[in-house]
Amino acid sequence: MPGTEAPTHHRIQRLSPLVASQIAAGEVVERPASIVKELVENSIDAGATRIILELEQGGIELVRIIDDGGGIPEIDLPMAVAAHATSKIRSTADLDSIGTLGFRGEALASIASVSRLSIRSRTAHTDAAFMMDVEGENPTTTRPTSGPIGTTVSARNLFFNTPARRKFLRTVPTEQERCLDVFRAIALAHPAVGFHAEADARTLMDVPKDQSPRERVLSVLGKELAPRLFEVNADEFDDTRGVIIWGMAGHPEIARASNRSQHLFINGRCVRDRTIQHAVAEAYRGLIEPGRYPTIVLHIEMHPNAVDVNVHPAKAEVRFRDSGVVHSAVTRSIRKALAAQDLTPLLNFVRPTAPPTETLRLPLDLPGTGKPNAALHSTLPGSGSAFADFFTRPTPPPQQRFDYEAIKHTLENAPATDPAPVPMPLPEPAARVLQVHKSYLVTQDEQGVVIIDQHALHERAMFEYLLARVLDGGLETQHLLTPVPIPATARQVERLQDLAPLLARIGVQAEPGGPVSILLRGFPTFLFDRNVDPVEFLSGLFEKAESDAFMTDVASGSEEALRDVLDMMSCKAAIKAGDGMSDVELAALVRLRDDVERSSNCPHGRPTSVRLTIRELEKLFHRA
Ligand code: ADP
Ligand code: MG
Repeated sequence: MPGTEAPTHHRIQRLSPLVASQIAAGEVVERPASIVKELVENSIDAGATRIILELEQGGIELVRIIDDGGGIPEIDLPMAVAAHATSKIRSTADLDSIGTLGFRGEALASIASVSRLSIRSRTAHTDAAFMMDVEGENPTTTRPTSGPIGTTVSARNLFFNTPARRKFLRTVPTEQERCLDVFRAIALAHPAVGFHAEADARTLMDVPKDQSPRERVLSVLGKELAPRLFEVNADEFDDTRGVIIWGMAGHPEIARASNRSQHLFINGRCVRDRTIQHAVAEAYRGLIEPGRYPTIVLHIEMHPNAVDVNVHPAKAEVRFRDSGVVHSAVTRSIRKALAAQDLTPLLNFVRPTAPPTETLRLPLDLPGTGKPNAALHSTLPGSGSAFADFFTRPTPPPQQRFDYEAIKHTLENAPATDPAPVPMPLPEPAARVLQVHKSYLVTQDEQGVVIIDQHALHERAMFEYLLARVLDGGLETQHLLTPVPIPATARQVERLQDLAPLLARIGVQAEPGGPVSILLRGFPTFLFDRNVDPVEFLSGLFEKAESDAFMTDVASGSEEALRDVLDMMSCKAAIKAGDGMSDVELAALVRLRDDVERSSNCPHGRPTSVRLTIRELEKLFHRA
């Protein structure tokens, strides 16, 4: 080829063991935290009851793990750092039932190839400890030294021999935090083992051995979370098919903006697993706002042959033999734990820590004055315009672009069978309910004062009702005697066919009525009864249909799209802020709190009600 040089051909050569292991080490040792993980796992496998972590410079200068486990006999020391050398499995068959955290026999060899590694170890059979330094591929010979039973592994100067990789390390505080994250995660999985961590000679963590699982969670995540962590326990299901689940699920209020507060374990192994993450999100659906992650510690146990842990070099991912079973067991166990709790957020002004902002938007005015109580208002942390907004926000005028009365004349006589009742139970004599500013309901229960957002609660109730009916066969349709033409875009007319399976489930009957028109033949009875404007409803639906993800869900019959639409239906059908209600309706709506599942939050995860306990009132009035 003119102008280009022919590539020089290099002979194919086998890489030296050092280069080969440095390349392989890239998969196992990414950063100091990976070393922490491998070394601590080795200590657990060795039966340690106490594990000490020492870091210097975020682990870049030094990661040291000291354990009191069984130790490595002198004769095995050089073998421990050889590639693919392990005492934990022997044959391929052993891979099907791995009972230890390690099994690949790669960690020490990998760490040795990218750092200066030294090991000191003593077993119960000798009075002396033995010491070995490794650099590159050559362990020095072992030499006797003194020391207690157990093993100390020190990895210094990470990536000293692969400077390119050293550049990918982050700042010392970041690396240190990642090391501690790993250490904490392993501590959560092993409550019987004591854990102690120091960085640059400062103690950062110290948890004793022999803790109960609950004590361990609180020691690691913080004791102040105790009232907001609920026990999850699912070994009593008779159809879990060998999946045991235990742990603690956090109150939706302590959800976080990142998933770092999610600790998931399979057979004692800390994993990131999509199936489980999805199952957890599913369990919290409607209780947590989008983009937030529940705080949770979940241990999932199953027979080792039901899960393949050998799919990821750092063993952070797994493959289940039956992921459906695991998914449903996780979702059900968390749902059950949450259902047993009253999740109404507490109003607590007096605490120094700021409560979630949502709770501050409550109008705490004295009845009749119409203005927020300035004195009380000023005691609220972070209160401000949201408060004022609430009082000035105009209620939008009802926009009726659809002539209901005219349509109702064209209705066929509805079939006499069981018309769908609006989910409002008949009221019993109960606590009195006061409607404030036609938006909030104030009542009492055994714990104190409950303040309810009338729209949010009704919306949640509608949603659960609609979902139950759709899953039970579909929503009833009100057939129109003469179809009603609705203007649409060409694209919307085209989309109509793709939407057909969804429309059928929710009781909408519509067909193309021309290039830019849709003929509505039937509309859900439920929405009709609640005076929802079909034009507005359909345009909302078409807006959602613009999203490919939504349409994929519709095509696959997934519940995601359905829930999304039911969400919209319940929002439109629910009582709005500004709607007046009779005493009978007020009482009925308040009763829905007890009758409806997950009534503490609306389908978008916002709270439907907040509670001011008697105790808080006493504090506010300086009685306590
Ligand atoms: P693996 O853990 O997959 O077996 P490693 O490279 O991590 O591979 O360790 C190699 C071997 O060294 C282990 O199989 C074990 O026998 C021994 N070993 C490593 N760390 C320890 C320790 N802290 N205590 C006792 N033995 C250890
Ligand atoms: Mg190991």
